[in-house]
Amino acid sequence: MQKNKAPGIAVYPGTFDPVHFGHLDLIERAARVFDTLLVGVGINPDKKTLFSLKERVDLIRKTTAHLSNVKVLPFTNLVVHFVRDSGANIILRGMRTTSDLDYEFTMSLANMALDPGIETVFLLARDIYSHLSSSLLKQVACLGGDLSKFLPDTVCQAMLKKTARLK
Ligand code: ADP
Repeated sequence: MQKNKAPGIAVYPGTFDPVHFGHLDLIERAARVFDTLLVGVGINPDKKTLFSLKERVDLIRKTTAHLSNVKVLPFTNLVVHFVRDSGANIILRGMRTTSDLDYEFTMSLANMALDPGIETVFLLARDIYSHLSSSLLKQVACLGGDLSKFLPDTVCQAMLKKTARLK
């Protein structure tokens, strides 16, 4: 039988435009599972972001400052390269509903083909946050809805400033 392995470093990659309570809940839970959790803030060519890469990184740093084993870094290369460069071999992703499955399944298989030594693991979104997405929150913000149930105060303020500038 194989010896139990230490959980090690996991990389949680995403766009986080902006980070919300669903992401933060996943980060807190993963920080209890892995020795180190590296949140990788990336660029998705299919998504035009409201916040710059630096702003997205700063917001996650501010809202995870209480978690000593969580680090936040930007990346602009392939996820599997970022994972290897970080000394990790685990990609962490969140799964909200079955509608996430198709996309996540394809991404995991692509990453497995690119680097078979990297495993993708999933944590289920907490039920109360499973409807949350950054795109939904951007719509709510543009239409003047209350964001305080979905976003920490720092992110709420940043979102309000950004959307006021767009109007
Ligand atoms: P990406 O462009 O990589 O999908 P996102 O910022 O939309 O970036 O999501 C990053 C990760 O966070 C993904 O694994 C996604 O499934 C997960 N995620 C998104 N929303 C939630 C939520 N409400 N609860 C838990 N995980 C979530």
